[in-house]
Amino acid sequence: MNVYADNAATTAVSDAAVAAMLPCFQEFYGNPSSLYTTGQLAAEKLAAAREVFARGLNAQPREITFTSGGSEADNQALRSGAAMGARKGKKHIISTKFEHHAILHTLQALEKEGYEVTLLDIPPDGVVTAQQVRDAIRPDTCLVSIMFANNEIGTVQPIGEIGDVCREAGVLFHTDAVQAAGHLAIDVEALHIDMLSMSAHKFHGPKGVGVLYARRGIALENVIYGGAQERGKRAGTENVPGICGAAAAFAEACANLEKNAAYVTPMRDKLIAGLSAIPYSILNGDPVRRLPGNVNFCFEGIEGESLLLLLDAKGIAASSGSACTSGSLDPSHVLLALGRPHEVAHGSLRLSLSEYNKPEEVDYILEVLPGIIQYLRDMSPVWDELEKGHRPHLI
Ligand SMILES: *Cc1c(COP(=O)(O)O)cnc(C)c1O
Repeated sequence: MNVYADNAATTAVSDAAVAAMLPCFQEFYGNPSSLYTTGQLAAEKLAAAREVFARGLNAQPREITFTSGGSEADNQALRSGAAMGARKGKKHIISTKFEHHAILHTLQALEKEGYEVTLLDIPPDGVVTAQQVRDAIRPDTCLVSIMFANNEIGTVQPIGEIGDVCREAGVLFHTDAVQAAGHLAIDVEALHIDMLSMSAHKFHGPKGVGVLYARRGIALENVIYGGAQERGKRAGTENVPGICGAAAAFAEACANLEKNAAYVTPMRDKLIAGLSAIPYSILNGDPVRRLPGNVNFCFEGIEGESLLLLLDAKGIAASSGSACTSGSLDPSHVLLALGRPHEVAHGSLRLSLSEYNKPEEVDYILEVLPGIIQYLRDMSPVWDELEKGHRPHLI
């Protein structure tokens, strides 16, 4: 059986998204900036897509900027918030230790440019509190950036409460909602969100299309310079096919939000219950306040990479952390922030489901996984020492 259980890394493109893209390649191929009809037809497609995102977020079309992906949207949001702060002499930014590298590495770059960054600690349940944000805000704080849902452990943050704290303090609030968009309801007005990033390929849209929501009045900084596309804030001929595919996927996801969550959540919970029964295993992140499809465990005495290879041999695609860190030997910064020791963080497994998965696939995972864990532990010198009591169990 082939099981794709890495939907937090990327998703299959939906039929609706493909259907929306195809005519853009050969029929509506015009440049949206061109004045003749062929160009204007493409411009109309673009405007319709912008409407879809605005409606889905409870925003205005002019508050939507299309980018090349979630990473670019994150970069632009942080640079814009930082620049607005600097103009008022405020150069302190608050974020968290378990953000995506698109946020963390941009913050490192901003630190080199003279900004001061506070990264909040991650509580053991993987949910940052609004009180932590309130305590960290200073008179010179210009921007708070906290992810909506974590990409590795799936925990959902109290975005509305954090939005309230920021609004009260007069500080801009950005959220990296790449994992949440299309999976959880998002209302930027109700949640007091000033900027928000999303990425189409995480909700069954194409890769290479991101969306940055920025509340009217926010002066976006250019990350890409050139032509006057996207109100002059993001140069480059628009990726019309990709953007139309993204909009179709987002409309579909928003229309089926509750239905998909009701279908995926029981599969997640069955996996959590089944994997919890494996000795010396631990669930990472709160069992309930997490994305409908996210399961993340650490297994003691296991190397995550070996586990992935053996799962792949059984037809199961999973992850041991974020796609960006796999391939390196460093344990996940998210699991370390959560307080897992290095040895334990190395033995991690993320299974991320979508509405494309079937209950039989979950049964299959639960059928093969315990045996693979046992096989790896039987070969592991570390497990041998743990078994003999020569080293203490950490889980
Ligand atoms: C995938 C992801 C990104 C990056 O999005 P791309 O479109 O791949 O650049 C950023 N943040 C989070 C939380 C993600 O999961």
